[in-house]
Amino acid sequence: MDIERHEYDVVVIGAGGAGLRAAIEARQQGKRTAIVCKSLFGKAHTVMAEGGAAAAMGNVNPADNWMVHFRDTMRGGKFLNNWRMAELHAKEAPDRVWELEAWGALFDRTKDGKISQRNFGGHEYPRLAHVGDRTGLELIRTLQQRVVALQQEDEKLHGDPEAYIKVFAECTITQLLKDGPGPEAAISGAFGYWRETGRLICFDAPAVVLATGGIGKSYVVTSNSWEYTGDGHALALLAGAKLINMEFIQFHPTGMVWPPSVRGILVTESVRGDGGVLRNSEGKRFMFDYIPEVFKDKYATTEAEADRWYDDQAGNRRPPELLPRDEVARAINSEVKAGRNSPHGGVFLDVSSRLPATEIVKRLPSMHHQFKELADVDITAEPMEVGPTCHYIMGGVEVDADTGASSVPGLFAAGEVSGGMHGSNRLGGNSLSDLLVFGRRAGAGAAGYVDGLAARPVTPAETMKTAELEAVAPLSRTGGENPYEVHSELQRTMNELVGIIRKAEEVKEALEVVEKLKERAANTGAPGGRIYNPGWHLAIDLRNMLLVSECVARAALIREESRGGHTRDDFPGMSAEWRRKLLRCAVTSDGQVTVEEAEQPSMRDDLIKLFDRAELSKYVTAEELADYDALVK
Ligand code: FAD
Repeated sequence: MDIERHEYDVVVIGAGGAGLRAAIEARQQGKRTAIVCKSLFGKAHTVMAEGGAAAAMGNVNPADNWMVHFRDTMRGGKFLNNWRMAELHAKEAPDRVWELEAWGALFDRTKDGKISQRNFGGHEYPRLAHVGDRTGLELIRTLQQRVVALQQEDEKLHGDPEAYIKVFAECTITQLLKDGPGPEAAISGAFGYWRETGRLICFDAPAVVLATGGIGKSYVVTSNSWEYTGDGHALALLAGAKLINMEFIQFHPTGMVWPPSVRGILVTESVRGDGGVLRNSEGKRFMFDYIPEVFKDKYATTEAEADRWYDDQAGNRRPPELLPRDEVARAINSEVKAGRNSPHGGVFLDVSSRLPATEIVKRLPSMHHQFKELADVDITAEPMEVGPTCHYIMGGVEVDADTGASSVPGLFAAGEVSGGMHGSNRLGGNSLSDLLVFGRRAGAGAAGYVDGLAARPVTPAETMKTAELEAVAPLSRTGGENPYEVHSELQRTMNELVGIIRKAEEVKEALEVVEKLKERAANTGAPGGRIYNPGWHLAIDLRNMLLVSECVARAALIREESRGGHTRDDFPGMSAEWRRKLLRCAVTSDGQVTVEEAEQPSMRDDLIKLFDRAELSKYVTAEELADYDALVK
């Protein structure tokens, strides 16, 4: 078969914020870099990000700094975060935002001309650098502009704009290539196909950076778009890397619930950050009833105090609508279950009675447009109806915090596809900054790895053949099942049985369904040839979604506690013992998913000292607390 072949130093899979930042870094370090993305260039998930990028610049409240941000991130993740990642993120996010500005990003401004920062759930101070509610668009525009600037430099230097950095858009990677069998073998490239023509393509490269985003398309109700099929998670597993924290999925509290065609589309947290409140069908501002013990001292207990906070943050506690997302999503879920729901099965989110109409249109232009166009609701005059939607996966490739390196030589990961940084629950705004901080680090990690190689790893011919046969298999299965049927059943199963509230029996049932769906997926067919055949594309994506869904369900069954984005009806409390455990998923050579427990490394002394004893005692074991006491004595 005719296979197009290219040679690079670094191949970055994904052109969202993480992928672009990684590619820019690799190219700046002199590496010939390919950016491969299955959607159009510019249409990554990052472009949809609304609220902003969290960075403790202290522009709006000078009391903010990296230590406060670090503490908020660890609290938000319920202390399960990889603390080194949380530390690097909090320290480096401001530099990454200023760097974007230097590359041409136009952020909203404070009155004195600094980058403006807005409030978001779980962040102690206003911290999100933003551009209205279209921050992701500006971030992607700026990074793309930077890629073009580098290409212009290359044209001057080498006579070819694509000499050192080239974009392969609408090109899907189906397999990572290695120079031999076993997890210790090194990356030698990546294999895939052009979506438009169906032509196969191979990249020979010693380093690959995965930046493929999340897995939301395994769920029916999701804010995620079509390309979020967990490809990077599955590619990493199949190459021998490990995934951690897969049981932790963020259900964003506010997705649209009506009309059905738009169910799940995100309603940005900025609505609450800018004063919006949640009410049930009885008109009650119910979040005051759901402040958990661990956050009791930080959130207002009366409406009057909560409202005063918007003007005087030093003298008042935050409104409970701004609790971390897992808390708000569970509260909405409980109100709906108790029958206090809005007409279409959600709750009301009201900003119309809280801000003047002109201010709403100015601060939330996309939300105003989105509700008017999609639901015929004018958010300046009436409340929205909202409910939880599958939004983000905290779990992903286990990486070295400093370099983004996975356990497979030559394989790196950054952004939503990587795991650890956000622990059991991500704070809003911490993803955009994560992409910039760890995209840059993974690009540098890949470049450094290539520099250290004595020779380029070579893909054996039989590995190429296997990748080729696997990619085209659905095309040759005549009379196979329609992949859309399998996909819908998977989505329903995950939504209903491994959703926001989980029970052992239901998760076991989901695993049985997934097992049957794997057999069915292996027999899906895609008639119609290779030229732009979405059935074929989905048949390939199914392998990834099923593999990743199995990891989510297996880990969810094993973790017998409730923490962040994992709520077990049968184990409702948080357990100090479980905080010390990570669940690590792998795939055996015959394709079986395994999950093993690994110990969470203890936090470095200077970092743990940033917390006070009373707070730590809510999360850690007696033994850990004794260590802390000895440390601060
Ligand atoms: P993405 O931006 O999704 O990019 C993934 C890339 O990988 C794409 O280019 C895709 O085509 C490519 N790809 C995937 N699979 C393959 C394959 N097999 N072969 C080739 N290419 C592949 N976070 C915040 O911090 N602040 C916010 O305000 C915010 N708002 C959000 C609003 C919405 C509606 C959504 C859905 C998310 C929001 N988030 C926000 C989360 C944040 O946007 C994402 O977590 C983040 O953009 C992920 O970036 P990424 O670079 O990891 O992946």
